[in-house]
Amino acid sequence: MTFQVDNYPGFPDGITGPELVALMKRQAEGFGTEFLEEEATSVDLGSTPFRVSTGETEYTGRSVIIATGSKNRKLGLESEERLMGRGVFVCATCDAVLYEGKRVVVIGGGDSAVQEAMDLAKFAKEVYLIHRRGKLSACKCLADRANQDEKIRFIWNTSVTEILGEKRVEGVRLSNQDTGEIWTMECDGVLLAIGWIPNTEIFRGQLDIDEGGYIVSKNEVDTSKAGVYVCGDLNDRRYRQVVTACGSGCMAALEAERYIAEKG
Ligand code: NAP
Repeated sequence: MTFQVDNYPGFPDGITGPELVALMKRQAEGFGTEFLEEEATSVDLGSTPFRVSTGETEYTGRSVIIATGSKNRKLGLESEERLMGRGVFVCATCDAVLYEGKRVVVIGGGDSAVQEAMDLAKFAKEVYLIHRRGKLSACKCLADRANQDEKIRFIWNTSVTEILGEKRVEGVRLSNQDTGEIWTMECDGVLLAIGWIPNTEIFRGQLDIDEGGYIVSKNEVDTSKAGVYVCGDLNDRRYRQVVTACGSGCMAALEAERYIAEKG
């Protein structure tokens, strides 16, 4: 979903997300990786070989690396789906430059919302952080920095009930929980920062999963089952960058290789 990647090492002029993926795929294929474009619908990690099923076909493996990523929590509005990539976006690091001199709304009140608002404020003319509560849940150091940023303004106890615009974002409809007041505000972009949902549903009951839906890991990539490893956003609450996902993918691959070599 990221159009432009400007912070992946080795690409000083940036690269588009799809181009970067195509290059990585070509490189992996050069080492003999076979790509199957199917959806894994269930897994059996109870005994080896491990089994991954796509419904029609069952694949077996002596080791499994899970890299199913996470998805941004959404508001659940039809308009946010329709305008995704047309003013609705989820990553300031990736897209802030597109909002140079513009007015952008950030929804959320946690670390991500505040961090994203500050990243956006480097480019945008003004950033409105809209939170459904009366105070931030972000850590104090981030909140203090955002409070000092003159471009960032806060709208409290307020929900975004609609994103306005046909072909591009033109504004938002807002509702104040305390007063019931409803009003609209013009803006050029809406950044969703209301949390993450790791794609771990099919692993429930097979691996230890915490209350946030994250697979419990130790040593970065080990799961509760020997031979099964995790990497990428699925296992990253903190950084969620392409470069960190690639790093943890490398760690998981090395562990899987060692596991298979030791098992013989
Ligand atoms: P989060 O802590 O789960 O915060 C989500 C925010 O979105 C909360 O303010 C929540 O409000 C709000 N929200 C949730 N659903 C909503 C909805 N339907 N409508 C409106 N608002 C909604 O998520 P996060 O901020 O992405 O942080 C995730 C993890 O990453 C945390 O552990 C955080 O510390 C870490 N992180 C760290 C950094 C950093 O250290 N620089 C940066 C980013 C993230 P309620 O309280 O009302 O639910």
